[in-house]
Amino acid sequence: MRYQRSSQLFKAASDVIPGGVNSPVRAFKAVGGTPIFVNKAKGAYLYDADGNRLIDYINSWGPMILGHAYPPVIDAVVEKAQLGTSFGMPTEIETKIAELAVSMVPSIDQIRFVNSGTEACMSAVRLARGFTGKEKIIKFAGCYHGHSDSFLIQAGSGAVTFGSPNSPGVTEGTAKDTLLAPYNNLEAVATIFEANPSEIACIIVEPVAGNMGCIPPQPGFLEGLRALCDSHQAVLIFDEVMTGFRLAKGGVQELYGVTADIVCFGKVIGGGLPVGAFAARHEIMSHLAPLGPVYQAGTLSGNPLAMAAGYAMLQALESDAKVFDRLAEKTAYLHKGIAAALTAHKISHTINRVGSMISIHFSETPVVDFETAAEGNNARFKTFFHGLLDAGIYIAPSAFETWFITDALTYEDLDETIAAVAKVAPTL
Ligand SMILES: *Cc1c(COP(=O)(O)O)cnc(C)c1O
Repeated sequence: MRYQRSSQLFKAASDVIPGGVNSPVRAFKAVGGTPIFVNKAKGAYLYDADGNRLIDYINSWGPMILGHAYPPVIDAVVEKAQLGTSFGMPTEIETKIAELAVSMVPSIDQIRFVNSGTEACMSAVRLARGFTGKEKIIKFAGCYHGHSDSFLIQAGSGAVTFGSPNSPGVTEGTAKDTLLAPYNNLEAVATIFEANPSEIACIIVEPVAGNMGCIPPQPGFLEGLRALCDSHQAVLIFDEVMTGFRLAKGGVQELYGVTADIVCFGKVIGGGLPVGAFAARHEIMSHLAPLGPVYQAGTLSGNPLAMAAGYAMLQALESDAKVFDRLAEKTAYLHKGIAAALTAHKISHTINRVGSMISIHFSETPVVDFETAAEGNNARFKTFFHGLLDAGIYIAPSAFETWFITDALTYEDLDETIAAVAKVAPTL
């Protein structure tokens, strides 16, 4: 693989964009080397600035669940663009996608569109606070809810203590309202509730975690969170920015049969354009401006191009009864092949998988939370990443990321990937 052109482009970008990128993980800091600049993508493949073809397992971090440049999405965007790109006034397409989303997802009556997953989560927490009249929130270590201040918090000395900021620029004042628990640890959550009676507005959780690798909820975890929220009059927020419209039509709520009060969306719901959304039942959504006092707004929210892309994407998923089964089968096939290739070379690993989300941790112990995810062998991951890249396979440049399987991947692509893993394994 050649990267001369990408290197040149990265140099030029670094002069005028901090670190050369508009989102940090793209800079390859965790794995070293030069970020790859993309020219175009189609189906399961990326074509980079040097003309290399890569099989893509990131898929824009999730949105391209049906493959890149999916024709119905492209057609919808092109058609809309000719009518004007933004009006700051209501358009019918917003209602259409809202109706479709509400019909697909359990427990929601209304949905508000924003421009990113960050915005969705930030607004969902404000709404939960406005609805309950309480201020503190519980989040889980290793869960990512975007880069809003309240979420950039690390664990303090104990789970019951206040969190402390993990980025300069986040104030202690903000940090004190975010309480942290380990993922899959109900007891810790119960302890936090007991230590902060009548103060918890909400729990926000990735109901299947995907930002420390893929970590499924252990049996009873989501049900336990539901019960704790009910007995403490707190709002349960499922951050389904990654899992929504990916693991099932109705997301994790449908898959695990547990109901949330507010659900956040992003990624797939925008079909590759910048879209986020948050949704809930009437009782909660009626607190939102202009109906209620909780303020939330956006100049480009509900943008017609973005709504058209998202609508085409949701329609495609809604009308294909087998798509999620197909995705899960492909992911299971990949899992089996990779596990066999690594095992043949005695490389200890843990593979977690739910539907079309899968991650490989180079560790011996089960990966159930941030602490166990962090035990992985990072040096080994770097070698793995670059070995696959040289073979034309693009996985996320960090050991803490999930692979996103797309329906555009063929079994030949999966076999090519498994063969690449088998080739890299002896070097690990
Ligand atoms: C990606 C992600 C976000 C943030 O979405 P952005 O569109 O990047 O702001 C929030 N929550 C989860 C679970 C995510 O995976």
